[in-house]
Amino acid sequence: MAASVERLFTAASTIEEALAARRQGATVLAGGTWMMRDPRRGVDLPEAVVALHRIPALSKVEIEPDHIVIGAAVTHTVLGRALRAVAGFEGLVAAAEGAANPGIRRVATVGGNLCALGFAAADLAPALLACEATVELQTFEGSRLLGISDFLKDRPALLTEAMVTRIHLRRDLIASAHIRLPLRQAGDYPVAIVSFAVDKDKRCRIAVGSVEPVARRWTALEQAMAAGPAPALDPKRAAELALEHNDFQGRDGKEAEGWYRRQVLPTLVRRAVAALLKTEGLAWL
Ligand SMILES: Cc1cc2nc3c(=O)[nH]c(=O)nc-3n(C[C@H](O)[C@H](O)[C@H](O)COP(=O)(O)OP(=O)(O)OC[C@H]3O[C@@H](n4cnc5c(N)ncnc54)[C@H](O)[C@@H]3O)c2cc1C
Repeated sequence: MAASVERLFTAASTIEEALAARRQGATVLAGGTWMMRDPRRGVDLPEAVVALHRIPALSKVEIEPDHIVIGAAVTHTVLGRALRAVAGFEGLVAAAEGAANPGIRRVATVGGNLCALGFAAADLAPALLACEATVELQTFEGSRLLGISDFLKDRPALLTEAMVTRIHLRRDLIASAHIRLPLRQAGDYPVAIVSFAVDKDKRCRIAVGSVEPVARRWTALEQAMAAGPAPALDPKRAAELALEHNDFQGRDGKEAEGWYRRQVLPTLVRRAVAALLKTEGLAWL
């Protein structure tokens, strides 16, 4: 019989309590939907965990006239519901409402989706990249704000002691879209994701998830779309530019090979621009 392990569970009521538990070596437990599969990945479950869902400030979405603050313990379901009527954030809503399945979305959190190391197919990562989100971290030395691109790149080192507390968004988008390609053989995880946003200056922000190990902005395509002579917000033209400026190195995985993930990107870009043109913010085009 396997030896039993005594595990410690703390439900923190304040950020200070959560930090104190972290100092004692506890790992953050959010919805547990990623962590519960650690043993399948050959990773031992942590001996001590600290949950954040009882910290009121981390479980709400605050919508202000010029910005939005999302607590790390907010679930996908709550996020989708909170932002459904907010113009410009259609992409983030589609990401929150399209990821996984209803049962997972009810418990999986924003913080968990961004902090699951080694999880390349997180839907919220590209959606928040397109929003140019800022991630608020709580470290043993105090709080810290970091652009989401830098957060995603430096995550493994940052999360050894920091925890994500909030996500900050500017309300500077007029429209956005989130297009994913799930495959049954990939366990319905998306094998490629394109998130597209248009800001008030009509600049496009484009992010790609699941194609490379870490989601990133597609700056080559953003620049081409800004420079092109033809109207760039045309689905066909955008797909042509995506083909020409495809600088992704697709990751090989058991669900899909790298070349395939890379090859589907122009199609996803075409669908994303078509979806953008259907939003209220771009109806005048
Ligand atoms: C069947 C299934 C289908 C899925 N399909 C999709 C999909 O289509 N799209 C998609 O995006 N995801 C999908 N997922 C993944 C799911 O979204 C993630 O498991 C989930 O987002 C993780 O969130 P959680 O709250 O459950 O995190 P947990 O499992 O609790 O934690 C995940 C990791 O993040 C760390 N962590 C959590 N919160 C914080 C924090 N605030 N600060 C620091 N570290 C933290 C934890 O310590 C842990 O290492 C799927 C999962 C399953 C089981």
